[in-house]
Amino acid sequence: MQVFGLVGNPVGHSLSPPMHEAAYECHGMDARYVTFEPEPAALETAIEGAEALGISGLNVTIPFKQDVLSLVEPDELADRIGAVNTIDFSGDQPTGHNTDADGARRALEEQGDAELDGATAVVVGAGGAGRAVAFALADAGSTVHVVNRTVERATALAADVPGASGHGLDALMDLVPDADVLVNATSVGMEEDASPVPQTALHGNLVVLDAVYSPLETRLLRDAADCGATTVDGAWMLLYQGAIAFERWTGRDAPITEMNEALRTGLRGDR
Ligand code: NAP
Repeated sequence: MQVFGLVGNPVGHSLSPPMHEAAYECHGMDARYVTFEPEPAALETAIEGAEALGISGLNVTIPFKQDVLSLVEPDELADRIGAVNTIDFSGDQPTGHNTDADGARRALEEQGDAELDGATAVVVGAGGAGRAVAFALADAGSTVHVVNRTVERATALAADVPGASGHGLDALMDLVPDADVLVNATSVGMEEDASPVPQTALHGNLVVLDAVYSPLETRLLRDAADCGATTVDGAWMLLYQGAIAFERWTGRDAPITEMNEALRTGLRGDR
């Protein structure tokens, strides 16, 4: 039996196990996906132990995405982003990858029909998700404006991303009306029925991705749909980051329909 898993703390409510196990079932694989919650001080031992035990692959989530970077051989993208969310143990040494970035890009392209090459994109948030999304969009050919509550974090991220600029939240009213793509990579909308972007800034030509996936229909996505914008919920980003990890670990095509169904069943059960 192959074992895959997720390392984070806490990981109790993760929907990755049903999502990945739907893929194993679909391919008839003898495999399980298990969650692990090491103490932060035990992270290095946990990664070494996973390799020694023959675990095939690990996803990594909060609070370990940055710390794990020094424990694996990161690929070029993970190194630039400064965070790893997927570890592959198949080589001589564990390699680290960031599938949040391509997960966001595929969500926008495949579910939002977004043309990212040459687009103007506003990324709200400069934390872990904001970093991954900003690099993904710049790599896809978009001009990226990073907007964040703490403006220093926005300008610091923008300095790392080719062609990007950094701003405080008050710039949204100027930037969003001229944008083609808008991504919420803050946690606003998760705990309360609130949006980080004023509705008056939104327009019908936008493709809007909200990284928040619980609830699925956030205030931002409702406001955007009311303006006639194309909306993409955070479960699509979660789905594609998992699908890309599955494909890397197994070399098989990810069964998107089955993984999506398992993920959305889990999200509905969460509410
Ligand atoms: P993080 O590193 O803690 O960053 C949080 C971000 O939210 C920061 O930019 C922070 O701004 C901003 N923020 C928090 N409260 C705010 C408020 N009241 N007003 C304005 N901005 C606020 O978190 P993260 O890992 O980037 O995650 C951000 C969100 O993305 C979470 O909801 C997470 O669940 C989601 N996410 C989704 C996926 C997916 O696959 N769909 C993947 C990763 C993350 P400051 O810098 O000013 O504090």
